[in-house]
Amino acid sequence: MRTNFSREQLTDPHIAAAEQQLRACVHCGICTATCPTYVLLGDELDGPRGRIQLIQDMLEKNVRPSAKVTTHIDRCLSCLACVSTCPSGVQYPRLIDAARAHIERSGSRPLSQRFVRWALGFVLPRRRLLSPLLGLGRFAARFAAILPKALRSPLEVAAAVPHAKPQPVELEAHSTVGKRVALHQGCVQEVVAPQITAAARRVLVRHGFDVTLVEGMGCCGALNHHLGQTQAAERYAAALVAEIKSLEHDRAFESVVTTASGCGAVMSDYGFQLGEHAAGIASRTRDIVDLLRDVPLQASTAVKGVRVACHAPCSLTHGMKKASAVPQVLRSLGFDVVEPRDTLCCGSAGVYNALEPEIAAQLQARKAAALMTTKPQIIATGNIGCLAQIAAAVGVPVVHPIELIDWATGGLSP
Ligand code: SF4
Ligand code: SF4
Repeated sequence: MRTNFSREQLTDPHIAAAEQQLRACVHCGICTATCPTYVLLGDELDGPRGRIQLIQDMLEKNVRPSAKVTTHIDRCLSCLACVSTCPSGVQYPRLIDAARAHIERSGSRPLSQRFVRWALGFVLPRRRLLSPLLGLGRFAARFAAILPKALRSPLEVAAAVPHAKPQPVELEAHSTVGKRVALHQGCVQEVVAPQITAAARRVLVRHGFDVTLVEGMGCCGALNHHLGQTQAAERYAAALVAEIKSLEHDRAFESVVTTASGCGAVMSDYGFQLGEHAAGIASRTRDIVDLLRDVPLQASTAVKGVRVACHAPCSLTHGMKKASAVPQVLRSLGFDVVEPRDTLCCGSAGVYNALEPEIAAQLQARKAAALMTTKPQIIATGNIGCLAQIAAAVGVPVVHPIELIDWATGGLSP
């Protein structure tokens, strides 16, 4: 596709990267059928091809977006199903990320929206704030009906977030001889489901890894990134990269391991976000279950026949491209694994369910129905956002696959 950016505009690396992708798009529309918002709403402007056109127009003219343009861009889940479908290899994140940052900078949103987005971007990455505010949010959600619409959805999401299970005690000694890995501790997950990192740590240590926890400023920057808050996202990302590098002075980490694929997908792109110095960490970022695919796991608990439905998060499927690891590893341990046919996003998508509740609710219901038709005893998913979104809509336990792997290899039952 032809583009018309000025030389000055192209000195911005984010605009230059977006322009490359705009040129690669041939407007064939093949991506449209796999886009969840197009499937639900049937509007060309709520599909990737239509959004790409809107983004090009907005970025080229460098104008404040209209409310209509902002709405169509906001409705994008950043699920990246379009990236997996595109035969021309268009890297859509370069476009949607540039568009979100542009809208954020333009200050064109109404004040209430700006406040909610600022509050989400400020509170969620800060564990110490999030923990008490989550409790307060759960209480305030009882009065959601009388509050403004912009505040109602975040409170309803807070009310639906599962309560944290008590953090299990560390059971095994720290290894100093195995492969050295950094285990990333995220923000929201550590507050609502600390048992996930604990299970990952136990499994890794049990299988001979030398594990170091890393957290930077407490978040990888993914939440701010999806809100278009570029500076905050880069601050969090840079702090995490600096911490990992400072811990590597005598012995490099073989991998930087994540237990939330939403974080992993963003960390895998640190090379673009932060520049060459972060590329080495980006290329070593691995999802915990993908890492364990290469490890001979020592099964010790009889889990044969326990029926597990796997929900593959979009960030693991289309972002990290490692979704096949979860069913493969769980099957190897004896679980009876089923995979639902409907592969559309569950509607969680970072903070999407708080900002676009109607679309998120439709996708949630669709996902819950698809999972429950497989008659599972347990549902497994490797991203905390998906876990909370699905848990609020089904009547069976929803856990991270690492909790099942921990259980099957001699750890705690989830
Ligand atoms: S993003 Fe890819 S699949 Fe979609 S219209 Fe452009 S070239 Fe076609
Ligand atoms: S990222 Fe997902 S929601 Fe957004 S345009 Fe692509 S397929 Fe559609």
